[in-house]
Amino acid sequence: MEIAKTIESIEALVKTAKVAGKRIGLVPTMGALHIGHISLIEAAKKQTEFVVVSIFVNPTQFGPGEDFEKYPRPIEDDLGICKKAGVDIVFAPTPEQIYPSENIEWVNVEKLTETLCGKSRPEHFRGVTTICARLFNIVAPDMAFFGQKDAQQTVVIKKMVADLNMPLKIVVCPTVRDSDGLAVSSRNKYLTDEQRKDATLIYKSLQKCRELIESGTVDVEPIIAQMRSILEQASSIVIEYISIVDTQTLGAINRVNGQALVAIAVKIGTARLIDNILVDANR
Ligand code: AMP
Repeated sequence: MEIAKTIESIEALVKTAKVAGKRIGLVPTMGALHIGHISLIEAAKKQTEFVVVSIFVNPTQFGPGEDFEKYPRPIEDDLGICKKAGVDIVFAPTPEQIYPSENIEWVNVEKLTETLCGKSRPEHFRGVTTICARLFNIVAPDMAFFGQKDAQQTVVIKKMVADLNMPLKIVVCPTVRDSDGLAVSSRNKYLTDEQRKDATLIYKSLQKCRELIESGTVDVEPIIAQMRSILEQASSIVIEYISIVDTQTLGAINRVNGQALVAIAVKIGTARLIDNILVDANR
């Protein structure tokens, strides 16, 4: 496994792989790799012949007062995980490589980024689309792999790729969960044992929602009320939003007809946690 720290070196390595007829799969990450990331690497290995994992804690997607400084950066562990998973190249650039000028040219998807997480993190998605556009231009992958865990991110990135005619396919992989249902996240490390237990209520409330919809409840308001009452069982949980939205526009809906995205964001202690499921009223 090679480690590329500069744009020149990753470009040269990818070029050689392309000349050899290999399709390039990119897995963009911020490191602190876990089984969720590994599932993306496995999907990339199945669908492409040359897998690049980028590790870059992207400063532009953190807002003021967020956890950019304290975000875990266990680079040696991450490299070991990538090697074991059969990654071909880890691209680990410095911020100076990615943002050579303080005067950053932004790539921004409007509208889709104004709802859900965009309300409390108004500049977050602009940072995400800007880093992804740069990574896509540098690595030139045939496919890039993202987790359903960050549902809004996948919708926003797909819109950017479609509207800017970027020549790659976005593949969305299922959310990986711990055995008690909590979605695996680098930010779960911030939880105390007690808070970690409380966090299982997030998936419990999503499951309750699925149960209600699949048994015929379609009005969103009473569903959200029941989800809220489950989350309120733990006083450590501060609800940011519980939303049931259209899967394409991310706009709020009053009744569930067909597919919908059910998304939650909460704060527990210092950790901001998000999770979601896709539901189908016609199932
Ligand atoms: P991050 O390093 O947290 O920015 O995440 C990098 C990629 O891993 C994103 O596409 C995430 O959606 C994905 N990811 C994070 N956690 C999970 C998970 N539990 N299951 C599946 N994918 C995940």
